[in-house]
Amino acid sequence: MGIWHGVKYKEIFEYFEEISAIPRGSGNERAISDHLMGFAEKKGLKAFRDAALNVVIKKDATQGYEKAPTVIIQGHMDMVCEKNRGVLHDFEKDPIRLRREGDMIYAHDTTLGADDGIAIAYGMALLASKNIPHPAIEVLMTVDEEATMSGVHNLDVSFISGKLLINLDSEEEGKFIVSSAGGRKAKVVLPIAWEAASENMSSYYLRIDGLKGGHSGLDIEKGRGNANKLMGRLLSDIDESFGISIAAINGGMKSNVITRECEALVLVNEEELGSINKKLEEWNETFRNELRASDNGITVSMEKAEKEATNVFSKATGKKVIAMLMILPNGFQSMSMEIKGLVESSTNLGVVETKEEEVFFYNEIRSSVLSLKLNLFNQIKTIAEKFGGKVNVDSDYPEWSYNPDSELRSVCSKVYKRMYGKEAEVLMMHAGLECGVFMSKIRELDAISIAPNLFDVHTPNEHFSISSAERVWEFLLETLKEMKYMNCTK
Ligand SMILES: [Zn+2]
Repeated sequence: MGIWHGVKYKEIFEYFEEISAIPRGSGNERAISDHLMGFAEKKGLKAFRDAALNVVIKKDATQGYEKAPTVIIQGHMDMVCEKNRGVLHDFEKDPIRLRREGDMIYAHDTTLGADDGIAIAYGMALLASKNIPHPAIEVLMTVDEEATMSGVHNLDVSFISGKLLINLDSEEEGKFIVSSAGGRKAKVVLPIAWEAASENMSSYYLRIDGLKGGHSGLDIEKGRGNANKLMGRLLSDIDESFGISIAAINGGMKSNVITRECEALVLVNEEELGSINKKLEEWNETFRNELRASDNGITVSMEKAEKEATNVFSKATGKKVIAMLMILPNGFQSMSMEIKGLVESSTNLGVVETKEEEVFFYNEIRSSVLSLKLNLFNQIKTIAEKFGGKVNVDSDYPEWSYNPDSELRSVCSKVYKRMYGKEAEVLMMHAGLECGVFMSKIRELDAISIAPNLFDVHTPNEHFSISSAERVWEFLLETLKEMKYMNCTK
């Protein structure tokens, strides 16, 4: 029987299973890229691979579709590698093992890679097909999307001729993504002046934890607490009242994740411990009250350090660090006035890290409007320079602007309505998709992003719905068919 018993379109799932056997974490795409090139050769299809290992495989139009515009079918071949604690799985060597629960496909305690393996499987099934009518297609499979998007950034577009692109890297059936935010990672570097710790002070860890965190784009409007920002307020008050010293501050691991935990190593006068603890109690209450509807699990606590710190930030450095935490912008900054509920601009102070000579503050800026992204960056730069620091751009990617006249969107909308008797939802996304970079590389490109229902992506609980994958496949095929009637302006 096997896990695919009862499915309608076995070919998609068998290709999915085939690529699941090939380890393909971001940065480790040589084998999957080789595999795809081998696949093209076996099928007698023209294929091209660039220096970044991105692969494009072409297939001619079927009979009657020669005049229809060429369409690019696109996904990324790499996947996020996450596993549960204690799971013995080597993402460099071991195949992803699939498991079925009713309509859902999971992996065994690891990410599944349906993001974005499902796109690769669709692409392979199309390329291998013998009786699916379609215009000329170019299946474009990029590398390293999940890490730095270096694949699409370094993509050699000389082999690509299509001007219509269907991206298959979103997560929800029935939703057309037609725009995505641009982003920039800004790293503020603040030099530390150290001094010897005073002998009559004792070292304590001040901690904020219990927050929910989340994706710094998709969850940014949910009003969740950012532990780094909250630590700034806490330190400011305690320093004002008791005159503390700071020996280190560290919070968060990734700039694109809302910070769940922050820890500061502070030196306090033991005699004031009682009053400080009382203050912490008050802050516990204050934060819980502020976050009661969105993130009420927060706790503020203090614990004696196992070892006394010998060096601390100078008073001036300490004040600067606190001030930076207080005034660096964070959270959503503007909402779209055109699309209800869409965050237009945001920034996340995701990571604060104490190094030997500097404190780093990592900010993840996003906006669907370029000038607003740059404005946020300039705000951060101004603040950094005010305090004697500097700012580096760690990465930057362009927005995918909404195209009010997208022909591809109108074809998709028409087909969707015909198939399901209702309108598909048209959405803009406050997160980065590769489409933004394609837009900047391929002139007059018209793009849309669709996908079947994927759940809990980037976690070991990642799964997808078989029936949804089948419906989206049918939708894709109908859309390709409909393209026969597209005005060949592209
Ligand atoms: Zn993806």
